[in-house]
Amino acid sequence: MARSEADLDEQAVNALRDYLRIPSVHPNVDYGPCEQWVRAQAASIGLPVRVARPAAPHKPVVIVTWAGARPGLPAVLLNSHMDVVPVYQEKWTHPPFGAERTEDGKIYARGSQDMKSNAVQYLEAVRRLRLKGFQPQRTVHITFVPDEEIGGVDGMAAFVKTETFAELNVGFAMDEGMAWPGDEIVIFNGERSNWKLEFICRGNPGHGSMLMDNPAAQRVRVILDRLLDYRESEKARIKHPLMDQGKVTCVNVTMLQGGVQNNVVPPEITIVADVRISPEKDHDEFVKMVQGWCDEAGDTELRIVQRGEVEGVTELNQSNKWWLALKSALENANEKIIPIICPGATDARFIRRLKIPAIGMCVLNNTPILLHDHDEFIYEKVFLKGISLFEEIIRNLTAV
Ligand SMILES: [Zn+2]
Repeated sequence: MARSEADLDEQAVNALRDYLRIPSVHPNVDYGPCEQWVRAQAASIGLPVRVARPAAPHKPVVIVTWAGARPGLPAVLLNSHMDVVPVYQEKWTHPPFGAERTEDGKIYARGSQDMKSNAVQYLEAVRRLRLKGFQPQRTVHITFVPDEEIGGVDGMAAFVKTETFAELNVGFAMDEGMAWPGDEIVIFNGERSNWKLEFICRGNPGHGSMLMDNPAAQRVRVILDRLLDYRESEKARIKHPLMDQGKVTCVNVTMLQGGVQNNVVPPEITIVADVRISPEKDHDEFVKMVQGWCDEAGDTELRIVQRGEVEGVTELNQSNKWWLALKSALENANEKIIPIICPGATDARFIRRLKIPAIGMCVLNNTPILLHDHDEFIYEKVFLKGISLFEEIIRNLTAV
């Protein structure tokens, strides 16, 4: 049974590179090869696999389970998504699905940070713990879900509503975090809620040569002013470029629509805004404020195209024994932690909505932030360190 550490490292890097070479890229992802890859990994570790298909036959949720000595206790869920975002091939200096390893110890591929490395770290940590004869008290489920990058509707959002998910009896979940160029490991314990707003500004139409009263553009000016003033005031609250992102509410004008011809004053112009409301902000207050802008502009209708749910936050204090277990594993390894509200969205929100504590974390410190960017890569050394860290994390979490 004795296998050298170098052998295990080699095996882990090969597993990662194989997984990265599967082009599970949007749109129309073929998840078949990912499912096969997980099955092969699980078989080599000696663990059973179950596959749920909560939304469609071609959208599998693959579940690898390591039964604990006390299977009645709530389990630990280690989640990752199998899909990756598209690439601009010509902008890459290494093929995005080649998983090339460079002399200086980098592995280049789409998904190397977001988030196939987590998947391999979970599996390899479990492989090593088993080789060492460790027997967890709590059960560990490692899940591989589809479609996170397109909102998770047919992935985690559907999966959490199934009987299969309920049977997993999840007590605590881990999901993705993000890279950070400093020494610290970034922890996500909550997310902002995702809103899409439309302001339909109406006014008097007519010939482009006439100075009619109240054209739609006059309403547009008021709304744009208020939106951009609010944006500036929130931006001013960002003191730390990473830590404060999720504490503020983000508004961006993403589309302006209206008009048919350059000499026709249009009766209507629509402003579309992407809004991410901080969990620290009262959502109803926000809507009231925005409605106030419409009243001020006059003849402007507010349409809430997407109403974000108020997202729960996983407490990071003495009351959360899971957090204490995770934190002590990281601190024992001398890792520093930055806990933040995730500026974007991850599948962890679907788990938190069930009142199950969930924390996002990637072991990607001292690494440039390249998720969704060209030339995404991971340092092999950091990847391997992550496996050791997850070994300790799994030891601690299953002993809670
Ligand atoms: Zn991701």
